Amino acid sequence: MKIAIMGAMPEEIAPILEHMGEYATTAYAGNKFYECSYGGHDLIITYSKIGKVFSTLTAATLIERFGAEMVLFSGVAGAVSDELNIGDMIVSTSLIQHDLDITAFGHPYGYVPEGKQYVEADKKLIAIAHEVAKEIGVSLQEGIIATGDQFIADPERKGWIREVCNADALEMEGASVAVVCDVMEVPFFILRSISDAADMDASFNFDEFLESSAQVSAEFIIHMVEKIG
Ligand code: SAH
Repeated sequence: MKIAIMGAMPEEIAPILEHMGEYATTAYAGNKFYECSYGGHDLIITYSKIGKVFSTLTAATLIERFGAEMVLFSGVAGAVSDELNIGDMIVSTSLIQHDLDITAFGHPYGYVPEGKQYVEADKKLIAIAHEVAKEIGVSLQEGIIATGDQFIADPERKGWIREVCNADALEMEGASVAVVCDVMEVPFFILRSISDAADMDASFNFDEFLESSAQVSAEFIIHMVEKIG
């Protein structure tokens, strides 16, 4: 199977590329795409750059241009749930765009006509993730991820996202990747390791824990690829 692995930032895919060792590089649409074989699969690995627009472009490119049959996202996120600490992993059951707002017309946050307020991730991949977590003895929480084009470092905005979106974690790419994969009928899986708590200390914590949390997520994704039949 042709499996795409994407992150938003170089740090999120560096551990995966290091693990692969050798790969072919193709430049396209302002990004670099790295191709190799691993675990009986053809992999296409890339980072999109930050935010919903770049991640949308990259997810669509992975599917349309490179023929990805499945998209796995690996990266870091801010915690919303009090049960998530720095370095913990969350797999998203569904994703919502917290900054998508046509509520003036009576619609809920995150919804536009002919879209979905919450996009559900692939249940089979989530089940595989739980098997992997058990096998390698790590804890994996699942929950709702809220995505928006904002770095959240504000308890008030975080509280709003928790209340309105029922989110457990937040970041800047997951829901846009989810929308692309959902409409293109490509199974997807969004994994994040916590880098900060989206509070006043978020930018300091982010800088301190980006690499270590990105590594936690990347290692897990490599195990996932090994497990996918
Ligand atoms: N430090 C970077 C910017 C990082 S933006 C720079 O200066 O270039 C944050 C990235 O990590 C995004 O890709 C997002 O998906 C994720 N993320 C982690 N914590 C987040 C938070 N509190 N709010 C929003 N996104 C967060």
